[in-house]
Amino acid sequence: MVDPLDKFYKVIEDMKAKGLYNNIRTISSPQGAYLVANGKKVLNLCSNNYLGLAANERLVAAVKKAVDEHGVGTGAVRTLSGTIDLHIKLEEELAVFKKAEAALLVQSGYIANIVAIQTIMDKDDIVISDALNHASIIDAIRVTGIKNKFIYKHADMGELEARLKEAKKLAEGKKEDGSDRLILVVTDGVFSMDGDIAPLPEIVKLAKQYGAVTMVDDAHGEGVLGDHGRGIVDHFHLHGQVDVEVGTLSKAFGVIGGVVAGKKELVEYYRQKARPFLFSTGLTVADTAALREGVKILMESDELVKKVWENAKYLKDGFTKLGFDTGKSETPITPVMLGDENLAKDFSVKLFEQGVYATPIKFPMVPLGKARLRIMPSASHEKADLDVGLKAFEEVGRELGVLK
Ligand SMILES: *Cc1c(COP(=O)(O)O)cnc(C)c1O
Repeated sequence: MVDPLDKFYKVIEDMKAKGLYNNIRTISSPQGAYLVANGKKVLNLCSNNYLGLAANERLVAAVKKAVDEHGVGTGAVRTLSGTIDLHIKLEEELAVFKKAEAALLVQSGYIANIVAIQTIMDKDDIVISDALNHASIIDAIRVTGIKNKFIYKHADMGELEARLKEAKKLAEGKKEDGSDRLILVVTDGVFSMDGDIAPLPEIVKLAKQYGAVTMVDDAHGEGVLGDHGRGIVDHFHLHGQVDVEVGTLSKAFGVIGGVVAGKKELVEYYRQKARPFLFSTGLTVADTAALREGVKILMESDELVKKVWENAKYLKDGFTKLGFDTGKSETPITPVMLGDENLAKDFSVKLFEQGVYATPIKFPMVPLGKARLRIMPSASHEKADLDVGLKAFEEVGRELGVLK
């Protein structure tokens, strides 16, 4: 008998041939400047653990204490018996940290985008989205079933205004239920593949002009941009002006979870209505306790934030001196552009042989022909570690003909 799933198995062979297969390595050490990946100690240049909090001893101690006091699980979804005091405290602390009125804690950044969009929009509303927005925003728009989708060319404010004009015209007609159509402009704060920053002040200004609501996904901005890493809204001094702020707690915060922040009334609406909040259990005791300690560390000191920026500058200067193209990044995200998917794969394999771990970023994360190695410095690296990385890049770059 023919296996009806057979067609999927064949895809794997095709992915391998095109350099698109994900070679998933297993990590058996804590996250740090070095990792043990597939049993081998390698320099870690590809974690989103910007501040080194993923294995920070204060977070580890906070988890042990909380688990002793509260156990491990929360027993039910948040709206039944699964909201623990630690969730509420963390929500309050995140709101203070981000200088927002209120915050809702959810299971991940991906879920936070679904919560943020699905809860306030339906198929007849209108969304205007940057062409390079993260997959979780695209999926949130899909899950919501929004029919009126406008995409503007990446960070192009002329195009955004043109789309806003079209949207406003469309919004003149009422929805089937007689209510007005919401227009939502949504953007990544920091674009995760290139490291550039969204022109948020212009986006907010244009959206206001056309009566649209704004939403920013600050996944790569939190812990990195703004005073003490408060994120993109703080970076641009736009407190209270972006309607919906989404964030992840798995990158700079080093653990897992997502957050949706904004006006008190809006967060209350999400808390009552968001489907992933109502129908899926919230963060565990350990996650929540660790995150509280992480927020505390960031409130106390900006030392880690400064260090990741210093390391980023050192690396970017190093790559540029060697002759690599690091694109247009304005943040610690450091793409080393290679173009061809197989070249990116081979480069990564050779680096790994030399003890340097840098994963290729390729289609569908970036367009075909725009493959790269995305280098992520962290506050855990010392200059000597970065030198090890640069040296390996130089050698492999010459071997593969990327450098002359
Ligand atoms: C990583 C990322 C997410 C997903 O966050 P998770 O917490 O890993 O689910 C969402 N949006 C952007 C822009 C991201 O970079």
